Amino acid sequence: MNVDQMLSGKKFLIMGVANQRSIAWAIAKAFSSAGAELAFSYQNERFKGKVEKLVEEEMAGSLLLPCDVTDDSAIDNLAAIIKEKWGALHGVVHSLAYAKKEELDGQYLNTSREGFLLAQNISAYSLTAVTNRLYPMIKKGGSIITLTFQGSERVVPNYNVMGVAKASLEASVRYLAADLGPMGIRVNAVSAGPIRTLSAKGVKDFNRLLEGVEDKTPLRRLADADEVAGTALFLASELSSSVTGTILYADCGYNIMGN
Ligand code: NAD
Repeated sequence: MNVDQMLSGKKFLIMGVANQRSIAWAIAKAFSSAGAELAFSYQNERFKGKVEKLVEEEMAGSLLLPCDVTDDSAIDNLAAIIKEKWGALHGVVHSLAYAKKEELDGQYLNTSREGFLLAQNISAYSLTAVTNRLYPMIKKGGSIITLTFQGSERVVPNYNVMGVAKASLEASVRYLAADLGPMGIRVNAVSAGPIRTLSAKGVKDFNRLLEGVEDKTPLRRLADADEVAGTALFLASELSSSVTGTILYADCGYNIMGN
């Protein structure tokens, strides 16, 4: 199969573009190059202008819709518009997360109840909420992909409440994969190595984390957003038709290493 035809005739919703550094944007470029038609959802008015400009410049004609995932009515509205415009789709990329900056610093021990619930709500529950509204429109063979990080399994300094939310997200991937498998819909996660993005900046000493990882990966380098996008493209395409409920690492092998 030629890469430029891997997703030809397929429609995907991409959630989580904030700017050109977003992993979701790299995924959108890979999917578009593979022939997919795309819809984008952005968090709120603050992100609208930037996302609109990017999409107009590089993927004019794509649908552009607001959706703050903490708001059920916004997710309902997103689903209603996609149903009206497209009728059906072939998959969703869920590439979003949030935790309070002060909880991504210091000890996990100090996590507040409010900060814990907020991180879980946006970074983990939203996958279930979005899947619940969209799966009736997803065609057999469809693919739902989310983004996770190894801080779900191991203690990564300052990642704290987000690591716990990613553990919950990864468990959600398995439960959703079991629920939707009989309908021929697959659900997987890409566990990306650390990449400099807007969200990553919120984690204290993120640059130090990058340096520490780079020397230790088997490939002696960090994965970039385009490589993560390539893994997402595989998971979106028929090449991965038997893969579901999986956490696939795009991290230059860092996950296999001891300390
Ligand atoms: P990013 O800041 O570009 O993207 C995060 C997105 O989350 C933004 O578009 C933001 O608008 C969106 N978001 C936050 N709260 C939201 C809400 N309430 N409603 C809707 N959208 C909301 O950063 P990124 O690094 O591209 O992050 C994308 C995904 O990749 C996240 O799940 C992140 O945890 C994951 N990830 C990132 C790294 C990394 O090192 N950058 C590594 C592994 C996994």
